[in-house]
Order: sequence, then structure tokens, then C-alpha cells
Amino acid sequence: MSISANASKYDPWLAYLTQVERVTPYLGKSIQPYVNTLKVAKRALIVDLPIVMDDGSIRHFEGYRVQHNLSRGPGKGGIRYHPDVDLKEVMALSAWMTIKTAALNLPFGGAKGGISVDPTELSARELERLTRRFTSEIGPLIGPQVDIPAPDVGTNPQIMGWMMETYSSIKGHTVTGVVTGKPLHLGGSLGRVRATGRGVFITGVEVAKNIQLAIKDCKVAIQGFGNVGSEAAYLFEEAGAKVVAVQDHTGTIFNENGIEVVELQKYVHHNKGVKGFPKAQEISNENFWTLQMDILIPAALEGQITAERAQNLTAKLILEGANGPTHPEADDVCLERGITIVPDVICNAGGVTVSYFEWVQDMSSYFWSEAEINERLDKLMINAIADVWQKSTDQDCSLRTAAYILACERILKARQERGIFPG
Ligand code: GLU
Repeated sequence: MSISANASKYDPWLAYLTQVERVTPYLGKSIQPYVNTLKVAKRALIVDLPIVMDDGSIRHFEGYRVQHNLSRGPGKGGIRYHPDVDLKEVMALSAWMTIKTAALNLPFGGAKGGISVDPTELSARELERLTRRFTSEIGPLIGPQVDIPAPDVGTNPQIMGWMMETYSSIKGHTVTGVVTGKPLHLGGSLGRVRATGRGVFITGVEVAKNIQLAIKDCKVAIQGFGNVGSEAAYLFEEAGAKVVAVQDHTGTIFNENGIEVVELQKYVHHNKGVKGFPKAQEISNENFWTLQMDILIPAALEGQITAERAQNLTAKLILEGANGPTHPEADDVCLERGITIVPDVICNAGGVTVSYFEWVQDMSSYFWSEAEINERLDKLMINAIADVWQKSTDQDCSLRTAAYILACERILKARQERGIFPG
């Protein structure tokens, strides 16, 4: 695979801790004593998942659910199926969810789960068995008021449907609010599938205005062409930008006149990757990072933008569709070189925001129209990015540090006001 989370010895948990170190000096005195609560995970569960494969053999998989912080409400965060999943990665991803839900002011804490598995190697029946066993193993830790999983890399609405069904079977009644990102007729929400890519676009357009970057005719390069990357690509193309390069786990394609996004979506649907797309040339994976581009959208895995790659980037704006795609040292290089980064905890928060809407709809058994959902999503994200922009101007810091200041103040204020049990 060309995209690996473990490339260049990237330790996502260490990267997260560095981000917390960087924000600490900006936090008020009264909440400083609580900052260590961000540097640990509240609760972590590792589960063994023995699965009977289609050929009758038994394989063991390892699964995780980590609740990083619950100061502001139930845990919230996706479930990742990927061969690189391990405890450290899930801890980091859960911590980024804590920051993300707080940055958007959603009434949740942060959690994440995953299984170390390549889902493309399993049959649909094996995947269903794995998902059901995983749900039953993490069952004691999840629930609509406790911790609410959702899709992430390698999972989808069908998998969320199986999770909801398994949890409901154990409880003896239907509990739609236990997971979000479900199929529509199982209590899912309109607009959820496209929400993350939409949020990347919305925050990107707002920040582009602030840095006087016109979207029309600008060159966009995208890493990852799944749920997030392909929707962001579509929206940027609609707004008049040219998608000049796309990289995924099969390779990298380039066309300086622009790649037609809907055509590429159809091609990827049938061919399982961008490699071989006829209306573009194939280039090496490393060349991707040095291409002429205005906007770079990393929408795959963490650890992709190293200091070295950042040094040669021509992009003026980076939109983090993925979680944790930028090394802290690369953040420094970008700041120095005047490259603006819209950080993951704001940029890709469209997904969890519509997950919140889905949860609210499930709780009230009253469902909204797609227009209503998109309108609320756009408003929330535009306000959130405006607050982050303002904070970064006031404090003369990066947008990432600004987002962390806003989020950490909310989390630590909640911790302070709750007090520490047993007191
Ligand atoms: N996995 C997504 C994320 O990283 C969505 C999480 C959710 O909807 O709870 O933000």
C-alpha cells in the first residue's frame, strides 16, 4: 500500500501530546491544574475477537475502544478497520475527537475504536460476524448516553447498521441512538455520508477568503479518494477549482487541466482505486508532494505531511480531511513558509457534527430534511472556523493552536466545574 499510517516512524499519540504542550501556555491560570487530564486516556478496552471464517478456520483479531475524555458528555468517535490499527493510534484518534467535539461545542467527549484488520480481505459474512462480535465485546462500554460509535476509515453505514442491530438484540429492544452514520431507514440521518467532505469544503472556502485565495481555477491536490476526499473534490470542482492530482492506496494520477471528479468516482467504484484512470497520467507517489498546487487536501491517514514534504510543498492552503495528517515539525515548517493549515479538529468535523444531528433526531424520533441539516451544518462550521480564525489573529498563533485553545478551555472548564471525584 502506498499510504500507510506508520510511514516515517510517526507516533500519533506523541504528536497529540506535542499539540497539547503547544497550547498549554495559552490556557488561563485557573484551568492549568487540570491540563494533565488531556494527556491520558480515561478508559481503554482491548478485546480478542475469534471469528469463524468462511472456510471453517478460526482467526483471532484484536479490537479496541478508547474513551479519552468524557468531561463534556458521552464519548463520541468512529470505528476504524485497518491493518495499522493499534492501541496508540486509537488513543490518539480518541483524543483528537475530544478536541474536535469541544472545538465545535458539541455536547460530547472523545472516543474511538478500531480493529486491526484489512476489511477488503474478508467476505461480507465474515465482516458481519467480526462486527457483531466486536459490538458484543465493547457492549458494556457503549450506549446512547455513554459512548456513541460512528464510521471511520474502512467502515460504512452497513457496518453501523450491524452494530446497532447487535446492541439492540442484546438489550432486547431497538436502540437507534447507540451509533451514528447508520443507513437511513435504521434511524440514520440525511446528509451524514457527505457531511465530512462538505465540512472540508465549507471551512476551506471560508479560510481561502481570509487569505485572498480565489477558488475559481485554483489547483487542488487530494490524497485519499474515499468518502471524504471524493466529496471534497466534487464540491471544489463545482466551485470552479481544478482537481489536478489524486493519490490513493493504488497510486497517484495527475492531469494539469483537471480530472473530472464524477468520472473518477465512477472509475474508482468499479476499479477500487485511482490507478489506471484513462484521462490522467500516472506519476510516482513522492512526486505528488512537489506538484504545482494551491490547495492540498490530505484525506487519508495520519502522519503524511512530514517536515521534508512540507519544505517542498507549493500549496498555500492545507485542508486536513484526515485526522492527524501533519507532523508537528511540519506544522512549524508550514507556519514559517506561510502555508495556512485548517486543522483536522475543525476541517473534518462536518462528519461528527451531522452525527450529533443524527443522535438528536434518534433521541426525539423526529427527522429533519436534508436542506435543514446542511443549513445547520454550514452555519455551525462557518461560525466555528470564524471563531478559530479570530483566536489565531488575537493570539498570533496557528489555526491549530487557536482551535486547541478554544477546545481545551471548554474541556478544562467543564472538568473544573465538575470537580474531581471523590473530591
Ligand atoms: N470518524 C469521524 C471522525 O473522525 C466521525 C466520528 C463521528 O461521527 O462520531 O470525525
